[in-house]
Amino acid sequence: MLETNVGKELMSKDEKYVWHSMKPYNPNATLVVEQSSGARITDVDGKEYIDAMAGLFCVNVGYGRQELAQAAYEQLLKNPYTPLSQGHVPAIELAEKLNEMLGGDYVVFFSNSGSEANEAAFKIARQYHQQRGEGSRYKIVSRYRAYHGSSMGSLAATGQAERKYKYEPLAPGFLHVTPPDSYRRNEDEYTEAQEIPSVKEVDNLMTWEFSETIAAMILEPIITGGGILIPPQNYLKGIEEVCKKHGALLIVDEVICGFGRTGKPFGFMNYDVKPDIITMAKGLTSAYLPLSATAVKREIYEEFTKSGNYDFFRHVNTFGGSPAACALALKNLEIMENEKLFKRSLEKGSELLEKLQNALGEHPYVGDVRGKGLLIGVELVKDKTTKEPLDVALVNQVVATCKENGVIIGKNGTTVAGYNNILQLSPPLSIPDEDLEIVLKTLVDAINKLN
Ligand code: PMP
Repeated sequence: MLETNVGKELMSKDEKYVWHSMKPYNPNATLVVEQSSGARITDVDGKEYIDAMAGLFCVNVGYGRQELAQAAYEQLLKNPYTPLSQGHVPAIELAEKLNEMLGGDYVVFFSNSGSEANEAAFKIARQYHQQRGEGSRYKIVSRYRAYHGSSMGSLAATGQAERKYKYEPLAPGFLHVTPPDSYRRNEDEYTEAQEIPSVKEVDNLMTWEFSETIAAMILEPIITGGGILIPPQNYLKGIEEVCKKHGALLIVDEVICGFGRTGKPFGFMNYDVKPDIITMAKGLTSAYLPLSATAVKREIYEEFTKSGNYDFFRHVNTFGGSPAACALALKNLEIMENEKLFKRSLEKGSELLEKLQNALGEHPYVGDVRGKGLLIGVELVKDKTTKEPLDVALVNQVVATCKENGVIIGKNGTTVAGYNNILQLSPPLSIPDEDLEIVLKTLVDAINKLN
């Protein structure tokens, strides 16, 4: 690769001063980006890449949207800050808009990140039960392989041991169950939701732990970072019924699945359920500014509006729901609507899925190609009969070959359980057709090189 002096100097400062998330500095893994536009990012050496991950599954409308910068700029001039213990116009408008998109009656609490949105959800769930005289309900159920955030509660809900064990003990009261995995445990064959083994497991857990101790279950509609695990069609309905049976709230984490990623406004809308609490972040602003939200059914919210001195939600964050972030989010949602990006995600996602299945279905290392909307996973295995995961070095080789050839793809990071073999695609929903073709060809070529 051509390296300019400017690039070299910046890379050496990057190594010296910036603590990158996840890994220590590694020049081969690091990409120092200088500018971006559409689905493309350009590094400090002038090399261009197609970002088939939309950052971390988040730049849903693509890079370089001037309208978004303008919306934030105008709001910063008009009024840069009001805490949400008071109120401001963009927050009202955004909460109303989200309510309309959610298709229910929800009240919205704003924060800055997905982790914080989930922390707020856990606290709301526990306090809600306390205020209804059911203070014994404190346990939160979640699934192995899922990721819910980096803070002590959201990490406790996370089901990926390698992200957790050096920071334990985390927040107590979190329990885990097996996620559905249609590739390995063909649960699609069950017509009755309650018969699905991974639904039964939740029912058993809540029974054996004692219903009266369970506050909530949190889950993503589709496990994303943990390996793009598409559940059986009636799985979520089954979980909703089990939660109702045990008096637990259903919290749906839409941090990645929300805002068109799966081809619907929210991922849960693929599965005919009405969650009690919905958390969202990333695509809400297409990651142009930090903003997250915890949407709560009105009847739950009303438990917090009674007259007792300590009934309100004792939870503040200084920056949550900042006026500029809310104004930008509104503009972002307007772009999604005007450009019909949810529909585009659905259509382009199923075209891409089919092309990948046709191109790779017979490949000896490709066990499964699955997805919904522009959220696609390719599971690589050593052996298609045993489904043993492919060695991670080979999986990494595919990611590196794609990068060399100008396409950024992702890979799941669940190593302890052995599942670090799933490639991920999650491009901007606005990615041009030509770029999507390049992503397809580059990925197929990189996998074919493994032979
Ligand atoms: N939930 C899910 C499903 C996520 O993927 C993430 C982040 N990748 C989070 C929560 C946490 O979001 P944040 O990094 O903004 O705290």
